[in-house]
Amino acid sequence: MTNLWHPFTQMKNFTSREVKKGEGLFLELDNGQKVMDFVSSWWVNIHGHGNKFIADAIHRQALLLEHALFADFSHKPAQELVKRLEKHLPRNLSRFFFSDDGSTAVEVALKMAYQYWQNKGFKRDYFICFEGGYHGDTFGAMSIGADGYFTAPFSELLFEVKRIPYPFTYEGDEEIEKKEKSALAFLKGMELKRCAAIVLEPLIQGAGGMRMCRPKFLKQLEEVAKEAGVLIIYDEVMTGFGRTGEMFACQKSATRPDIICLSKGLTGGFLPLALTVASDFIYESFLSDCREKTFFHGHSYTASPLGCAAALASLQLLENGFPYKKIDYSYFRDAFFNHPKVEKVRIMGAVAAFDVKSKKRGYLSDIGKKIKEECFMRGLFLRPLGNTIYFMPPYCVTSGEITLACNILREVLELL
Ligand SMILES: *Cc1c(COP(=O)(O)O)cnc(C)c1O
Repeated sequence: MTNLWHPFTQMKNFTSREVKKGEGLFLELDNGQKVMDFVSSWWVNIHGHGNKFIADAIHRQALLLEHALFADFSHKPAQELVKRLEKHLPRNLSRFFFSDDGSTAVEVALKMAYQYWQNKGFKRDYFICFEGGYHGDTFGAMSIGADGYFTAPFSELLFEVKRIPYPFTYEGDEEIEKKEKSALAFLKGMELKRCAAIVLEPLIQGAGGMRMCRPKFLKQLEEVAKEAGVLIIYDEVMTGFGRTGEMFACQKSATRPDIICLSKGLTGGFLPLALTVASDFIYESFLSDCREKTFFHGHSYTASPLGCAAALASLQLLENGFPYKKIDYSYFRDAFFNHPKVEKVRIMGAVAAFDVKSKKRGYLSDIGKKIKEECFMRGLFLRPLGNTIYFMPPYCVTSGEITLACNILREVLELL
């Protein structure tokens, strides 16, 4: 045992697994066992482990400039990255603010939106978010996330938000029109004139259980928000960089948020880095001769040149053939759609999921834990969200590996 304290982990009875090497889809443990990483190491890895092109880019940058404070200096890696990224984002998103991870990208977005209204001289003082959402573990991000096990100890410290139902859908869902209508009706019934921004994970709620919604719903949501003059913040920390089958969920839904948050896949899984990208009109509200209108926010490693170099290389790899478009889950659908122990099969882009039928639901369900252990012994690393099982491998995964993973999972479901 070591003296390490692991994230999201009950340390009582915890036994760690020592990982020593990563190559493509595989993680190799100290004892020589190899497992297929179908979690993309918490959704960050998109090209596979140990990618040499990205590693070389980081190496070259490290020899030149490892870091310089971004309050006083700018540098090529940051400039080139945002120039390249801009081409993939809706045209209105043109001001790039760096931070370190998904949570900080979200904090930045919330603060930008909130201060925007103050800078303009209006009072808009609350956020609307969705039931089942997840945006990170810092206080602002927890406030706009679902209130559940994760946030319960801190509930009195969180700021107030209003939550609306999320129209979660799956293959064969017959209620979806009704769910969407009711969510929109809920929204329209709120005091939108006082709302600073609506925050959501577009198309897929990740940690909340890989809950998908239809692109059409985002279009309708946008209409309501634009009409009421409410800002929209897309948290694309997970959905970004190809996960939904397009580079970003805003492309897939043909919508234009006012602010977007990016992290996880940004550096291809090599280094922590994040971006909050804002519309020009938001940025402009901060330009002033009075200092109070400044955006007083920043982190020590803002725009780390190493992170930027990794992100630039990763983006080049994505543009080179759009590998996320090649993932084929037809075998997954065939294997599980009519499976007696499975319900709510859902597939979008590089993400596939279903729920295991069970009396006890949610994150603390034991079924996921058992499936995880049995799969691991068979060489498949999954990280179920309660009774929700999902695949989110790096894009280097082959159809043969997806078939293999499905077959392992089917064998394990027989044990339940
Ligand atoms: C993971 C995640 C976050 C938080 O990112 P961290 O890097 O873990 O801080 C925020 N939003 C979404 C949608 C996420 O999936």
